[in-house]
Amino acid sequence: MRCLKCADAPCQKSCPTNLDIKSFITSIANKNYYGAAKMIFSDNPLGLTCGMVCPTSDLCVGGCNLYATEEGPINIGGLQQFATEVFKAMNIPQIRNPSLPPPEDMPKAYHVKIALLGAGPASLSCASFLARLGYSNITIFEKQEYVGGLSASEIPQFRLPYDVVNFEAELMKDLGVKIIFNKGLAVDGMTLCTLKEDGYEAVFIGIALIYLKISVSGLPEPNRDSIFQGLRMDQGFYTSKDFLPLVAMASKPGV
Ligand SMILES: Cc1cc2nc3c(=O)[nH]c(=O)nc-3n(C[C@H](O)[C@H](O)[C@H](O)COP(=O)(O)OP(=O)(O)OC[C@H]3O[C@@H](n4cnc5c(N)ncnc54)[C@H](O)[C@@H]3O)c2cc1C
Ligand code: SF4
Repeated sequence: MRCLKCADAPCQKSCPTNLDIKSFITSIANKNYYGAAKMIFSDNPLGLTCGMVCPTSDLCVGGCNLYATEEGPINIGGLQQFATEVFKAMNIPQIRNPSLPPPEDMPKAYHVKIALLGAGPASLSCASFLARLGYSNITIFEKQEYVGGLSASEIPQFRLPYDVVNFEAELMKDLGVKIIFNKGLAVDGMTLCTLKEDGYEAVFIGIALIYLKISVSGLPEPNRDSIFQGLRMDQGFYTSKDFLPLVAMASKPGV
């Protein structure tokens, strides 16, 4: 109720996914939780994940016009999480856009084989948007046995349960996107050439560049201060990249 529905909506401008925040807040205020969630997932297929883990104080909440008031800014992430959690409990599948022509009447280009490498947030999002546009032959190749990438393997369960990650992947699969696990680039001889030979006409590379042996400063390897060089796990020295996957493996059902 406190949201001012600001004309310039700095919250929306501060959101990397450009969510129409004042509109979904209005829907929540009207108890239209389905409508709020629909708006959120339309702009961002990972709307629940982002509601739970986005660093909102640096983004939408940081931009809120109420930031400097006594009562503080609107808790946008909390509202986003609330609406999308209510939607999750509704168990409503995602359906093909009814305004699209039937699949058999779609132009040929919409039936080409598309491969996405890695089942992390980048590919889940890309595949969802492609499927919503009407592309019908989309396959994700994931080298692990679970979806979600770092959302599953490094963000701890108490912060982002695997159930949430899986829910968003299932929404994507409702549109016919296939996921093949234990298969990926450079796994069992898969290359961009073999994908082309198998008839894939487009490939989206949703894996961290370090996996492709392209050197990127600081990403996604941890920065080690020079005084820690040479220290190992068996000596009790863990970087976040050593420690968090162990925590996730031990605490996240499904990972
Ligand atoms: C500890 C931690 C906390 C974070 N907290 C937040 C947060 O609070 N808010 C936020 O917005 N973001 C957060 N992030 C960042 C967020 O997790 C990443 O930005 C996001 O996961 C990147 O998604 P991606 O799909 O690009 O890559 P990834 O998540 O790295 O996914 C890549 C996928 O590709 C797979 N893969 C790798 N190699 C191959 C191959 N050869 N073939 C096939 N598949 C392959 C991997 O197994 C993985 O599933 C956090 C990250 C970490 C590590
Ligand atoms: S900036 Fe804050 S008050 Fe204004 S529309 Fe966005 S959430 Fe509402």
